[in-house]
Amino acid sequence: MKYISTRGAAPVLEFDDVLLAGLARDGGLYVPETWPQFSQADIRDLRGLTFAQIAVRVMKPFIGDTIPEDDFAAIVEDAYAQFDHTAIAPIKQLGPDRWLLELFHGPTLSFKDYALQVVGRLFDYVLKARGERVTIIGATSGDTGSAAIEACRDRDAIDIFILHPEGRVSDVQRRQMTTVMSPNVHNVAIEGNFDDCQDIVKAAFSDTAFRDRYGLSAVNSINWARIMVQIAYYFATAVALGAPDRKITFAVPTGNFGNVFAAYGAREMGLDIPRLIIGSNSNDILTRFITGGVMETAPVVPTLSPSMDIQISSNFERLLFDLYDRDGAELASVMDSFRKHGTVDFGDERWNKMRALFSGHRMDDTETKRQIKRIYEETGEMLDPHGVIGYVAGETLCDTSECAFVGVATAHPAKFPDAVEEATGVRPQLPPRLADLMEREERYDVLEGDVEAVKELVAARVASA
Ligand SMILES: *Cc1c(COP(=O)(O)O)cnc(C)c1O
Repeated sequence: MKYISTRGAAPVLEFDDVLLAGLARDGGLYVPETWPQFSQADIRDLRGLTFAQIAVRVMKPFIGDTIPEDDFAAIVEDAYAQFDHTAIAPIKQLGPDRWLLELFHGPTLSFKDYALQVVGRLFDYVLKARGERVTIIGATSGDTGSAAIEACRDRDAIDIFILHPEGRVSDVQRRQMTTVMSPNVHNVAIEGNFDDCQDIVKAAFSDTAFRDRYGLSAVNSINWARIMVQIAYYFATAVALGAPDRKITFAVPTGNFGNVFAAYGAREMGLDIPRLIIGSNSNDILTRFITGGVMETAPVVPTLSPSMDIQISSNFERLLFDLYDRDGAELASVMDSFRKHGTVDFGDERWNKMRALFSGHRMDDTETKRQIKRIYEETGEMLDPHGVIGYVAGETLCDTSECAFVGVATAHPAKFPDAVEEATGVRPQLPPRLADLMEREERYDVLEGDVEAVKELVAARVASA
């Protein structure tokens, strides 16, 4: 499989290079040259396999010959051996033709573990084979940092530095990062806000001498490999519920558009998914676009679902690439204009194509809490403030007489205990493996919001490449 950039002007790469590349050199995102095809018989053959076995089959065509199949299968098996539910991604039925897909049984309790546990191992494998090392630097406002740390801890070929804004992430989220004592994990609290953290990361990457010296790299949400791994749980879920002989709609709480784009990929590969439903919080640029036809940024407002507090969904560019019939040059100029003006009209034809497949539903914080309470009272299930938005979007937009849907629960309720307790009156408990999280020792550096201080720390901790 070859990978091409959505802006059409970056080198064509094989999987192992795309894995390490992140953003393409022309500013675009890598996508497979073609989507691998699964026939109805291929899909039927997945029945009864374990989650890891299905994941290997689904990902194999994307990896091609870049990693021997046995090694790849061992990586995937090992990644999911760390999860605390034997089904890995269990499905719960909440009513006729409605289910919940629980994607919070990994080490840090959000769906990001499903991809990152595999991607961290793939990084380490490919780097070791090449005799290389990288230094991963990232900024986090919550879930991504801990999932990346758990994915990279104790891996020989990786050092990881995660910056978080001091005092502005929840205690659970901070402790999930700062209680990891592995020598290759470096947590930094920045005296500033999340934007300051992101600016420091950008400044570090734009210093080419520094970047090359320490082999700077990222595992952010635009990394193709993360999307690829996520496609697997859509196959596993649809097959468990009767695919290819039954159509399944997915309802996904959306921020950077990575998770729902993976569902789109599964559909392109042959799963019969009649509709993709996007759940938005008050940062509802995508839902406004689906309803009104114009994409227009607005200031980010903080909500109870912070991992969806995003205005420009970076992975949306991957869908636009298809809507623009894979014309990278045209898309590049459209994206430039969007960055410049903060608004763009892709034209009625593309909007209609988008609407034919995607629907959107928006919920503010008051509604989010009201729905957590209602679902808890009706079913006994506690949903987190992200997952509830996906599930309720499914309920709202899926007519049960024709539509069977799965709401994607992207985080464990105990990751957001205050909001869930306020809604239900009951404080959600962390699972046993994290029960002593609040008593564990923490380790992190506090630095002022300045790239030079961060660079000095990296230099002190990492041998240069
Ligand atoms: C990251 C995240 C999301 C958003 O996923 P995208 O792939 O960015 O759309 C939703 N819920 C939770 C809990 C997350 O951590």
